[in-house]
Amino acid sequence: MMTTMIKNRGKILVFSAPSGAGKTTLLSYLLETVPGLVYSVSATTRKPRQGEVNGKHYFFLSEEEFRQRAANDEFAEWELVHGNYYGTPRLFVESVVSRGASIVMDIDVFGKKKLDCVFPEAVGILITPPSIEELEKRLRLRKTDDESTILVRLENARTEMEFAAGEGKYEYTIVNDDLERAKEKISKLTRTIING
Ligand code: ADP
Ligand code: 5GP
Repeated sequence: MMTTMIKNRGKILVFSAPSGAGKTTLLSYLLETVPGLVYSVSATTRKPRQGEVNGKHYFFLSEEEFRQRAANDEFAEWELVHGNYYGTPRLFVESVVSRGASIVMDIDVFGKKKLDCVFPEAVGILITPPSIEELEKRLRLRKTDDESTILVRLENARTEMEFAAGEGKYEYTIVNDDLERAKEKISKLTRTIING
């Protein structure tokens, strides 16, 4: 007799945070320490920062390529964030979760809202800085953005946090105050979600 194994779908974990809150730091830790998680590599028209690798951190596209892919409906969601386009390749997400693996996404709060229309089961986790002053400090210390970019990101942080608290659907919030404590929290929470 033939038996058919039906695998449970993997979980979709969406992490959002204002720029500089520490999301990249926390997600790198998470992906290194929790086995089996797959990272959803977004497409962007932003220029690569030092050390960023095409296909690993982002797929770096020209605006024309990005528009073409959006028109072909290749993105589960896409957004203009801080003046650049960012989008989540849809088929990759589907292929990961349908084989039972869990996927981790790093997308902005408006993109998360759009993603909910395509993947309503996505679990939202908001990472916040302890204060706007601390956020500003971290953006400056990171030394990856010029002054005008930092100011845009700080201004956007207020709008993003308001949206996340209102229309955004975030089941969990992690305050990234002490880094070691935040690492522990993100790791424990993720294990609970993917095993639940
Ligand atoms: P994001 O990806 O959210 O923009 P990053 O992970 O790049 O943020 O972090 C921004 C800066 O803040 C980096 O220089 C990082 O080393 C630092 N950072 C991250 N978490 C903390 C923390 N808990 N306390 C102090 N600095 C932090
Ligand atoms: P950064 O340029 O600092 O890497 O990212 C800037 C912002 O773009 C962050 O808030 C990040 O979460 C968001 N982002 C990255 N990829 C995507 C994506 O695929 N879709 C959306 N909507 N936002 C994204």
